[in-house]
Amino acid sequence: MKINVLGCSGGVGGRTGSTAILIDQHILIDAGSGIDELSLAEMRNIRHVLLTHSHVDHICFLPTFLANLFGYTDEPVTVHALPETIEVLKDCIFNWQIWPDFTELPSEQHPIMRFSALEPWQPVKLDEIVITPFSVEHTVPTIGFSLQDSEQHFVFTADTRASEVLLDQLNRLNDIDTLVLECSFPDRALEMAIVSGHMTPATVKATVAELANPPKQVWITHLKPSYEEELREVFAADPDCQNWRVLP
Ligand SMILES: [Zn+2]
Ligand SMILES: [Zn+2]
Repeated sequence: MKINVLGCSGGVGGRTGSTAILIDQHILIDAGSGIDELSLAEMRNIRHVLLTHSHVDHICFLPTFLANLFGYTDEPVTVHALPETIEVLKDCIFNWQIWPDFTELPSEQHPIMRFSALEPWQPVKLDEIVITPFSVEHTVPTIGFSLQDSEQHFVFTADTRASEVLLDQLNRLNDIDTLVLECSFPDRALEMAIVSGHMTPATVKATVAELANPPKQVWITHLKPSYEEELREVFAADPDCQNWRVLP
């Protein structure tokens, strides 16, 4: 599978748009402002959107992205998410006030979008990729995704705080080639990170150190723009993190 990180920022004003990762041509993980990197034609190739949770930096471009598909698709785009996330999207976004309900447009028989509810540890197979959602701890119901094909195992842990839950979930997965962990705040803002369900360099390092099977690669994502340059300097200076990739 081909992994194209379109956006990896934890907000607006960073080096990229917010979280959006394109898998091959047709699967999108989260629908943050990173989608803006794609051409219209590339957007119209997307058939599946996997959402980690309902926070706005991960869903902000979903409504307008879907609007680009009118007249270009007979088959609806499937938005895969936890039932709780689907409910929030229905109530707060696709409610005819913020945006139309695209599960009914242009018609209920042939809508632009349909929802598909995910359950942790119930895999979904899209083409040759087995996608397994797993629960993480954030401030709203949130899932990470394990994506596995014959070539590689890619694991995106979404927004999460460091916890026994996270370690337990990651240790249940097979050998991981690429593990993407978020790091939103510096260690001096540890209290804020814990309260808001996020990680700092120290908690990221502790998590990686405690994994039963170390991943081949670690990628760091979701730097909050206010702390981005500071966090990049911390990782660049840390001898334990020299093989890590701080996205993009
Ligand atoms: Zn986020
Ligand atoms: Zn979040």
